[in-house]
Amino acid sequence: MISIDEALEFVKNCARPLPSQQVKLGEALGLRLGESIISTIDSPPFDKSLLDGYAVAADDATSTRRVIEQVIAGGVPHYAVEPGTTINVMTGAPIPDGADAIVKLEDVGLEDVGLEDVGHEDDKRPGESTIQLPKSGIAAGTGILPRGAAFHVGQEVLTAGRHLSAIDIALLAEVGRPELTVTPRPRVAVLPTGNELVECGQRVEGGQICNSNGPMLLALLESMQALPIDLGIGRDDPKVLQPLMQQGLEADMLLVTGGVSAGVMDLVPGVLQELGVRQVFHKVRMKPGKPVWFGEYVREGQRKLVFGMPGNPVSTLVSFEIFVKPALRVLAGGTFIPPQSQRGVLTDSIGHLGKRPTYYPSRIHFGQRKQGLPTVETLPWRGSADLAALTRANALTVLPEGNYEYSAGTEVDFLTL
Ligand code: AMP
Ligand code: MG
Repeated sequence: MISIDEALEFVKNCARPLPSQQVKLGEALGLRLGESIISTIDSPPFDKSLLDGYAVAADDATSTRRVIEQVIAGGVPHYAVEPGTTINVMTGAPIPDGADAIVKLEDVGLEDVGLEDVGHEDDKRPGESTIQLPKSGIAAGTGILPRGAAFHVGQEVLTAGRHLSAIDIALLAEVGRPELTVTPRPRVAVLPTGNELVECGQRVEGGQICNSNGPMLLALLESMQALPIDLGIGRDDPKVLQPLMQQGLEADMLLVTGGVSAGVMDLVPGVLQELGVRQVFHKVRMKPGKPVWFGEYVREGQRKLVFGMPGNPVSTLVSFEIFVKPALRVLAGGTFIPPQSQRGVLTDSIGHLGKRPTYYPSRIHFGQRKQGLPTVETLPWRGSADLAALTRANALTVLPEGNYEYSAGTEVDFLTL
């Protein structure tokens, strides 16, 4: 049986980013950018006022200045500032020629210049309002954001591969990109299998249980920005499984749960292989999750990854966290990052028996540190069918293979959930 690291290496070698696509800006949140964005504009596109105030020449010695024009954001100045004059500008307005500083409204004792009080192009009356500059004078550059100060034409503003945030979307809007190239959301088909399964909300008869893996996987996929496709429940019958799996292979990834162990109804690997899915590995030295199956399906240059996950919900979850998540990240245009563990200190003793590393539901107390590390409380857990223990957990402690007893205070690795 292979180790987790060996299995991860296989997954890494099979996973490829999906081909990029054009999407509208409004659909790009959370996707990875498939191109680097080179600005075709200067930002700001003109020297711009950062304040509501008066545009002045800083080296003009006159203390009284006549207001000759008013420029609002979206307008353009028609006059230049000359000695003894000033132009009233609003935040965001272009700086008039001849001005190199903005004096705040509050500093000149004239907060309201009505349009009627300033000179106009079509009405050549000189403006009648005046302002008094503050005695302290004004430094050149005050209140002005020079053209191109944030970024300039030809500058790379976002790099390919970036995970797009709401702020990135704003920047893309600023540089005028209503459409852009991204790696699309991976489409992932989910097929829980088992004769005992009924859909949540249906009547549960003797021997039956509700399908919890399906809703869990759909939710996990949703939380990872993938596009989940619900194939419904597959009965343990090759004639039922085959068409469902065929349909699932049209997606970018197929997740099957149940039917991968050694029981008489564990038909999943056989049916997948009949459909032409090449088995890459089956069974990994880990607990829970040992029977996990992985294969790839390559047709007409398209590559689909298939995971067969053991049916117990905790096994499904652990297989998803360890193998599916890193693979999905690659499909979505990211790099392959194996599960990243952190160090913590056990609050209680815990024993381990056996040759498989165990992922143990645990609660990490990040605020209660010991030896400089967060403390780790392993939770009462009844094995891979015990989902309730997992709802109390925020992490899985990684107990390495071997027979041993760890005492309280031992340092351990954990994976956050
Ligand atoms: P299997 O891997 O098919 O042998 O199933 C292992 C255990 O997981 C059995 O007890 C199943 O009843 C249970 N199981 C299988 N699929 C699901 C599912 N979708 N939701 C909840 N439990 C499941
Ligand atoms: Mg089964």
